[in-house]
Amino acid sequence: MNDPAAIPGAPIWRPEELEYLGQCPVCSSTERELRHADLEDRFFSTGTRNWRAWSCLRCASLYLDPRPRTDVIERAYSSYYTHEDPRVTYAADNGTSIAWHLSNGYLAARFGHRRAPAWPTGRWLIPLLPPIRFQLDYFARHLPKPSPSMTCLDVGCGNGGFLLRAQSAGWRACGVDVDENAVNRGRAADLEIECTALDDYAAAHREAYHAVTLSHVIEHVHDPVLFVSTLRKMLRPNGLLWIATPNVQSIGHRLFGPRWRGLEAPRHLVIFNRDGLSDLVRRNGFRDVRLRRRGRHSASILAASLGAVAKTPINDDRLPSWWQGVAWANDLLASIVPGTGEELVLTARRCIAGGR
Ligand SMILES: [Zn+2]
Repeated sequence: MNDPAAIPGAPIWRPEELEYLGQCPVCSSTERELRHADLEDRFFSTGTRNWRAWSCLRCASLYLDPRPRTDVIERAYSSYYTHEDPRVTYAADNGTSIAWHLSNGYLAARFGHRRAPAWPTGRWLIPLLPPIRFQLDYFARHLPKPSPSMTCLDVGCGNGGFLLRAQSAGWRACGVDVDENAVNRGRAADLEIECTALDDYAAAHREAYHAVTLSHVIEHVHDPVLFVSTLRKMLRPNGLLWIATPNVQSIGHRLFGPRWRGLEAPRHLVIFNRDGLSDLVRRNGFRDVRLRRRGRHSASILAASLGAVAKTPINDDRLPSWWQGVAWANDLLASIVPGTGEELVLTARRCIAGGR
C-alpha cells in the first residue's frame, strides 16, 4: 500500500476519508467474499481505481468496501450528469411514429397519461408485445391512475423529468434532490422541487404521499436500511413505493464482470439482488412486495459495458449483431421472469401499522 495508486480512491481521497465496513450494509452479515478487487471509475471518471466490491454470502448484495465517507463523497459527482430543461427531456420521450401513437394510447388507458398523439387501439395492441408493454409500464413507474389530489414524490428527481410524466397522468408530483443545478433546472420549468437532504425533507413531510418513487437512487445510499425506513415515513398508510436499481445477478454483470455498466464505483455503493432488495423492503414496514417484469431495456446497458471494454463509447443502435441478439434474449427473459434483466424493479405497499 506504499504505492499511492494502490490506495482505493487516490488521488481524490486520502485514506482517512474512506470508511471501512467489514460487514454488509444491507443485512449486517460479516460473511463475504471478494468479487472485484480493482474496480475503476469508468463512466464519470474521477480518475480513481482499486475499489473493492464484496459479495455478501447471506443476502448476495454486492457492496463497496472501503468507500468514501458521506461528508466527502460529493467529489465523486464532479463530472456526473449534466442537466437539461426537463421539458426538453419530456418532449424527447415522445414522437410521431406509429409506435408512439400506440404507446400513448396504451399509457392513456392503463395509467391515465394525457400524451399526444395517441391511438386508443394501443390499449389492445401493446399487450400483445410483452417486452414493449413492460417497458411502458416501467416508463409510467407502475403508478395507477390517481384520483384527484393524490400526491407522489420522486426522490433523487434530478431536473424533475419524471414529474412532468406523473403530472400528465393527473398526479400532484413533487421532487427532492441534493443536486442544486438539477433542482434549479426543474424549478425553472415550474416544477415543485426542494433541494435538501432527505432526512430533513422527510421530517417535514410525514405520511404526506400516496406514492414515492426512486429511479437509480438506492444504490448511491450509504445506509440503505435507514433510507428505506425514511421512505416509509413519508408514505401514507397503504402508499406505493417504486424502486428501480441495477441487478447484480444480471446477464450483463456475468458477461462483463468489472466492466459492467451497473458497477459505477465509487458512486454505486450497493448493488442488490432480487431477494436482498425484497427482504430489505419487507423488513422495514412494507407488504405486497413485488418484483416487476422489466421488458425491453438492456441494449443501452450492454452497449455502455461494451464501450468500457473497447474504451470508446458505443451507441446502443450500433451494437454488433451478436450483442443485439444477447440484448433481445435478455429483454425476453426480463419479460417473462420478474426480477431478471439488467435492472430490478420493485413495488411495495406501506403497512398500515408497524415497521420501524
Ligand atoms: Zn448482506
